[in-house]
Amino acid sequence: MPGITPDTEVRFLPGVGPRRAAALAETGVLRASDFLLRLPFRYEDRSEHRRTAELVDGESAAAEVVVASLSVRPTRRRNLKIVELRGHDASGPVKATWFNQVHLKQILKPGQRVLLFGKVRRPFAGAVPEFANPGYELVTPDRDPDPAGPGTAGPGTAGPGTVGPEMVGPGMVGPGMAGSGIGDPAPSDSGVPAGSPESVSPDSSSPDSSSPSGAHAGRIVPIYERIGSLTPRLLRTILHRLLDGGDAVGPGYLPEELVARMGLPSRRQALEEVHFPPDGAALAELDRKRSPGHQRLILEEFFVFALGLQLRRRQDRVGRAGGHTFTVDDTLRDLVRQVLPFRLTGSQRAALATIAEEFRSPLAMRRLLQGDVGSGKTIVAVIAALIVIHHGAQAALMAPTEVLAEQHFATIRRLLEPHRIRVVLLTAGLGAGERRDTLRAVASGWAQFVVGTHSLIQEGARFRDLGFAIVDEQHRFGVAQRRTLVERGGGADLLVMTATPIPRTLTMALHGDLDLSELRELPPGRQPVKTQVRDPGGLPEVYARVREEVGKGRQAFYVCPLIEESEELPGAGVEARFRELSEGPFRGLRVDYVHGRVPASRREQVMNAFAGGELDVLVATTVIEVGMDVPNATAMVVEHAERFGLAQLHQLRGRVGRGADPATAILVVGGKPTELALRRLKVLEETTDGFRIAEEDLAIRGPGDFLGTRQSGIPPFRVADIIRDAEFLRLARKEASDFLASPGLETAEGRRILEHVRETWGERFGLTAGG
Ligand code: ADP
Ligand code: MG
Repeated sequence: MPGITPDTEVRFLPGVGPRRAAALAETGVLRASDFLLRLPFRYEDRSEHRRTAELVDGESAAAEVVVASLSVRPTRRRNLKIVELRGHDASGPVKATWFNQVHLKQILKPGQRVLLFGKVRRPFAGAVPEFANPGYELVTPDRDPDPAGPGTAGPGTAGPGTVGPEMVGPGMVGPGMAGSGIGDPAPSDSGVPAGSPESVSPDSSSPDSSSPSGAHAGRIVPIYERIGSLTPRLLRTILHRLLDGGDAVGPGYLPEELVARMGLPSRRQALEEVHFPPDGAALAELDRKRSPGHQRLILEEFFVFALGLQLRRRQDRVGRAGGHTFTVDDTLRDLVRQVLPFRLTGSQRAALATIAEEFRSPLAMRRLLQGDVGSGKTIVAVIAALIVIHHGAQAALMAPTEVLAEQHFATIRRLLEPHRIRVVLLTAGLGAGERRDTLRAVASGWAQFVVGTHSLIQEGARFRDLGFAIVDEQHRFGVAQRRTLVERGGGADLLVMTATPIPRTLTMALHGDLDLSELRELPPGRQPVKTQVRDPGGLPEVYARVREEVGKGRQAFYVCPLIEESEELPGAGVEARFRELSEGPFRGLRVDYVHGRVPASRREQVMNAFAGGELDVLVATTVIEVGMDVPNATAMVVEHAERFGLAQLHQLRGRVGRGADPATAILVVGGKPTELALRRLKVLEETTDGFRIAEEDLAIRGPGDFLGTRQSGIPPFRVADIIRDAEFLRLARKEASDFLASPGLETAEGRRILEHVRETWGERFGLTAGG
């Protein structure tokens, strides 16, 4: 389209206008280039359409016709009626019959255009061809009423409301195009229920006249998700126009060298292929997003992303705050020996060695410490902090919840205070006076180790000399938040700890700007948590098991999915279950409960009581999911286990088995679980390998669900999908780092690509110009 560039705002595109632009903006489509990346979610082969005159007896075919009449005939059998459609296209008449589908009378009105598909009966050549019990799709007109919606445009009511003002503008889709009336099955396209009067094209000409664009029929047709009043058909029309001449496509963002080496199509070819597949294109390949065009666009998107990550890393190779280097001397070694309550595992030692080495370098550290629940990340962080504190700088640890912050605070204090290291806690739960004092202690440098929640950021804590920031369970924080903490320290070293064992590809997408250390072994003497799946019928046995553990002086967690009852899940609330359990099966035991809405002070009291062995059973929601460290707890029951993600259940059961004794997790399903739910839970019976569990969970539930509310960390990709296209991400990473090291970077092409990287990811990754 002449005059259009990749940067043209969508509201200036023919057929769009302000209202539709607003709908597009909601899906992140702001400019012509964004629009082009709204790829079809599937394709339909409409190359088998026939003119009715050409329909052949016995074959399966599709034909687009105009309804002339619809009649309902009784038959001799009671309860059996026949609906008969009579209609035509330009080549001749057609019939269709259905049994009993009387409601069709409401849908297939005279004048309605409909695509019929199915088996054809035509006993002799001159007979009127008949579809027997065909499938059908209403045909949407090109001109979509705006606002579109059932009821706004009844048959023959092509009034002012139907030709939206947005459709008419200088140099835009004229009636010739808009009204061509080539079939588009509304129901499957747009999710508009069949029978919506929306799909009427009052001025439609013969269905056989071919569209000027040829975009909608007689070929493999792309199917788009509807956006506001932009129907799939309209999207197709606009996209077709966008690709037709002009320069909405713009140059690509893959180096030409790479394109040539890998034999990829150009960006233009790729976009044309995915939006308007050529004749003979492989439908399956298109649907799997593996056509050459798809591959190029996916790789391109990941390449730009990978460049962004690597620019971020480069930028992070900054000088350490205060110009410190933190070395390890003999005094420190002695101190560490005194602090350590146990022998480190091999991987703990390896991680510490790496960290110590980075501390010696003048560049700040950016490291991810990944390790399964119970692998002992905390002590690694604490010893690392000790190095920094020994050199007179401050350390801070940010935890995702108050409970976890409090736990860390207790652990760290226990370890360090005997060695006269001053540890403070900063959470939102502090009283005003306390908070002021704490903030002052942080600002003056009196506080050497500051433990807190995100209030570390929010409450405007100023450090005197923050040398080392530790972020625990980072998936709950945004990338921006951890950056804020680090920047507050003017370039502090960063260690991010995550226990969510996530598949490699996600690690890369979430934490690709960090170096990775992994704790791959559990501390010695740990026995894997034995896990059993039970149905509600097994509850008496479950209760007995808990009592047995308590009888041995052990403790148990009892996890319920909800705080309060809900209609959907009666009896699943913590408080109700607490009452029932403490008055029934656990009578005589010391039972209490916590959940997220219990006031912080009370929660702390209960948690401490449990940690101190003053309670036998703790009924709780997943507030205990992270951090709760009670080695004497050897049993965990999870009710309605099917409601949790596998990774989450794995996290949860990591709360038991933290001592030397064998521990049990019993997953009780609620009601009658589906086959799939059971299969998922069985994975937990079979393995304690967090990575395998994560992979399974991801495979079964898909990335959105898998990460649940934590998914905020996943970057928004337009074309690529980090699960489906994992292999492309790996490739992109390698190509990106080669590219950054190549002379190509200094060319005009290189500069243009980097410019695009900054535009796309600059904000998210905090990229500075030229960085
Ligand atoms: P996570 O990695 O899940 O945060 P933690 O750091 O809370 O794990 O450690 C889990 C438990 O294992 C804690 O009780 C901790 O004291 C203990 N632990 C950690 N490392 C070792 C070790 N090397 N030997 C024995 N116990 C250890
Ligand atoms: Mg932990």
